[in-house]
Amino acid sequence: MAVRAAVLPAVGAPLEITEIELPEPGPGRVRVRLAAAGVCHSDLSLSDGTMRVPVPAVLGHEGAGTVVSVGEGVERLAPGDQVVLNWAPSCGACHACSLGEVWLCANALAGAAEVHARTTRGTDLHPGLNVAAFAEETVVPASCALPLPDGVPLTEAALLGCAVLTGYGAVHHSARVRSGETVAVFGVGGVGLATLQAARIAGASTIVAVDVSPEKEALARAAGATEYVVASERTARDIRGLTGGQGVDVAVECVGRAVTIRAAWESTRRGGRTTVVGIGGKDQEVTFNALELFHWGRTLSGCVYGNSDPAKDLPVLAGHVRGGRLDLSALVTDRIGLADIPAAFDAMRAGKGGRALVIF
Ligand SMILES: [Zn+2]
Ligand SMILES: [Zn+2]
Repeated sequence: MAVRAAVLPAVGAPLEITEIELPEPGPGRVRVRLAAAGVCHSDLSLSDGTMRVPVPAVLGHEGAGTVVSVGEGVERLAPGDQVVLNWAPSCGACHACSLGEVWLCANALAGAAEVHARTTRGTDLHPGLNVAAFAEETVVPASCALPLPDGVPLTEAALLGCAVLTGYGAVHHSARVRSGETVAVFGVGGVGLATLQAARIAGASTIVAVDVSPEKEALARAAGATEYVVASERTARDIRGLTGGQGVDVAVECVGRAVTIRAAWESTRRGGRTTVVGIGGKDQEVTFNALELFHWGRTLSGCVYGNSDPAKDLPVLAGHVRGGRLDLSALVTDRIGLADIPAAFDAMRAGKGGRALVIF
């Protein structure tokens, strides 16, 4: 039976909403009926070629749904189980996995090279970032389907799969924010909003949100921001002004541009920590001089998928949802259909909104 999907036919081409045919799940694989899928900036980066995966591909990597069938040898999941999709499954065997750094697994994107479906006209399709969530149904390795803990609404659970794991992990695993510390978050999109909430959960005292748009202030404050700064060439100075001239203990950059990475680094105190979550292109070169690196004694870290182990973090995040500390609905700014994804890409290019969530 054919299902509808959003297909990237070639890098730089517009998405096509079309019918695809999925095979029955083979050994170790499961078929999932999507309830919802978030539109993440990385989908846009795949579509414009900033990040590359084999095409034509079904995009979408932040999803949740219900298992409809399982292939041979799958014992952990059964039809009817609610699951969150994990777009970066770890192999358990590579060097990074042997160190316990599963988010850096060398084989995390191996599945992207496989053909997981065909269009009804017979064109082979790849699963984007492994999970091909911009479709009514998908077939994924069982390692990409994590059981949804109790007490989390299935549609909003989609956000756990990328934005929330990333934002929460940036704060808790990468920057290791401690209670009472001050935090600045650059970029108020889906990941930025999740990062603000994570800073609030961590007990940060002052939480500064920074964005180019003045229109996101209410959204940012609802997610935990205590201060809002409209980005300018003065951003770092503005943030130091809000922290007694010192700068914040921690900056999290969710944009992936040289100018914001530099501003984030400059907005931290002497000895402060900056975590870069945003994914930028090779053209975004950040420069530092040797003397300032010495003088400021700051740390600058990259961060992949929140430096998270999704299987361990999902139950923790669900606990925060049940406890009312993590508000998934506050991240969603638009509830849309599959056919609205191209418009959601346009809005993202224009820097508008938080997270658009496709509801199936
Ligand atoms: Zn994402
Ligand atoms: Zn591995």
